[in-house]
Amino acid sequence: MTERELYTLLDASNIEDILRHFPSRYEDLTVTPVSAPYVDSKRYVVKGTIKNLRSFSRNGSFIHFYMHSFSGEVIPCVIYNQPFYMNVLSSDCEKLIVAYYKENRKSFIVSSVISLDSYAAQTGIKPCYSLPKGVSPSFFTNCLKKILSNENNRTKLFDKVPEKYKNKYKLIDAFDAYKMIHFPKDHVQKNEGLRVFKYQEALAYVSKAMILKKENEKRKKIVLDIDVQKGKEFISSLPFKLTEGQRKAVNQIYKDMVSKKAMYRLLQGDVGSGKTAVAFISLYFNYLRGKQGVLLSPTFELSKQHYQNAIKIFSSFSVKVELITGQMKASRRKEIISEIKQGKIDIVIATTSIISDDFTFEDLGLTIIDEQQLFGVKQREKLLLKCSTSDLLMMSATPIPRSMSQIINYDLDVSSIEDSPFGKRLVKTEVVRSSDPLISAAINKCISRDRQVFVVVPKIEENNRSTKSTEEVYREYKLRYKEENVACLNGRIKKEEREKIFDDFTSKKKKILVSTTVIEVGVDVKEAGLLIIYDSNCFGLSSLHQLRGRIGRTGDFSLCLLIYDGIDEEVKEKLNFLKEHDDGYSVSLYDLKNRGSGSYQGEKQSGKSELLVCNFVDDRAVFTCAREDAEEILNNLDKKENKEYISSLDLNNKPHLV
Ligand code: ADP
Ligand code: MG
Repeated sequence: MTERELYTLLDASNIEDILRHFPSRYEDLTVTPVSAPYVDSKRYVVKGTIKNLRSFSRNGSFIHFYMHSFSGEVIPCVIYNQPFYMNVLSSDCEKLIVAYYKENRKSFIVSSVISLDSYAAQTGIKPCYSLPKGVSPSFFTNCLKKILSNENNRTKLFDKVPEKYKNKYKLIDAFDAYKMIHFPKDHVQKNEGLRVFKYQEALAYVSKAMILKKENEKRKKIVLDIDVQKGKEFISSLPFKLTEGQRKAVNQIYKDMVSKKAMYRLLQGDVGSGKTAVAFISLYFNYLRGKQGVLLSPTFELSKQHYQNAIKIFSSFSVKVELITGQMKASRRKEIISEIKQGKIDIVIATTSIISDDFTFEDLGLTIIDEQQLFGVKQREKLLLKCSTSDLLMMSATPIPRSMSQIINYDLDVSSIEDSPFGKRLVKTEVVRSSDPLISAAINKCISRDRQVFVVVPKIEENNRSTKSTEEVYREYKLRYKEENVACLNGRIKKEEREKIFDDFTSKKKKILVSTTVIEVGVDVKEAGLLIIYDSNCFGLSSLHQLRGRIGRTGDFSLCLLIYDGIDEEVKEKLNFLKEHDDGYSVSLYDLKNRGSGSYQGEKQSGKSELLVCNFVDDRAVFTCAREDAEEILNNLDKKENKEYISSLDLNNKPHLV
């Protein structure tokens, strides 16, 4: 590999892009005492000599040796699925190992082997990177070393945080901070380095949010009357009485709609809290003031469902509703687009991808975006550009507690639905192995009670990886639960077919739906009572919670089975967290803590995410300080340093402030 290739793979254009590829975690290599009795599942770090090294399988997927520790213990060790170690290790070599003791195997399962002369083994702390395929950690580390040992690079770093704040918090120079992060002598040093970037990140985030808010306050509209009486009639035509939470949200939205300022609101409420009804009421208010509205959702299935609901609800109110999706016939699509432009359609239901299309409304008044897991200002910036003149309502099922929301969603007004139409959801979650008889027992029980079963699988096609595919599970289930009961749905299936498959399932012609995560968001099949997720480790926590929101929607007892056959303790902990917690608040906190701003993993890997080192949960104090400072900076833009700082923030939506 060449350096140039590294830059390409990391999507880097300068040294700082490389340096900002922070370790995803640090492994503690402080040697632990090792003596019998060993503790099951405990992590041990041992220095010693490898003896009797053998591989029991031809491909080296099972390696066995004895470690003679320097403290005089002899322990049996096993390495699974890391055959390259056969080439690197030999009997009598001295190494440091990280291993977990497994009582049932009476062995230490080795996760890594490190050479004693390495920097990490000597300092006892090892930065671990998540690197794209093809980049070896040692090549990457050498590249970092080269950059950081060249003093000339010190001045090439891009750090515009005004001196005043660096002094206020005694932050060291960024170049030294990078050294401490990539080549720490100990945890104290690493944290000292991290402080610098945490503050940088928090200040940039908060400043951007403040700028967005100010920009947004300038978005004005012409206020049109909404006939409240007619609005009330519509609400009483709904098949249910609004919950207190829904009523409050509707009031807040109404107030926004009749205010001069354009609405910029987040409606958050756990899965099943009834956000759709609030969206429909808002769309009707918007219709009453003579404007067009659009409801966007991330998947075709969800749009389709909103469309069917909308048709039912609006049929007696002479509102013209149309569905437009990426998959529809070009001629029909063209027709609808032209009708939208002429103002013949009042409410457009569409997939989110549509906002990138160049179709225009005659008179757009309200944009609603469903299931928008918006944790970051960056995504909102883009959105605002698209919907610059209309009222904007975003809906999210991962609610964030108020105190935290004041930072994360600083630029937004927030409505929260805290109650649920059916009281407490009765969903039980279990983490099971794929061989667990509970799975088929639960399926049979569900079918016999005429309730549907969702089966979610991470991928579509079979390949040699060990994760399950929809194809494979579909085949297995047809044999086991009769062909006429099982349907299969994935993004690869043609649109017309997808529609039919989904209809068959909602109408209970089919009882079991095997699918990829196309059902993740919003899909409302009231009587589904069982959700089975294969290889549940492949999904993020909020995805799993979203998926779980597909069942228990009537308040009846429902079961969610998370299948995991692996042994990774971290994964198990994550899955067990779901077993213990069934509310969106806990889940989003856990997620915010573990995934930073919730930006996509890919973004994070490429170093382009908004939050690389901060997370909103652990670093709240940093954000709080940053908020104070950002306010001061924005209020003193006559100072050159401040002005430069604000201009340096990479905003799509370049603020007119400066
Ligand atoms: P989410 O907030 O997850 O989007 P939905 O809007 O899909 O939730 O609502 C969940 C279910 O609850 C739907 O079937 C909907 O018809 C029903 N529902 C919504 N509001 C009420 C209410 N006030 N009383 C009874 N049922 C309701
Ligand atoms: Mg919904």
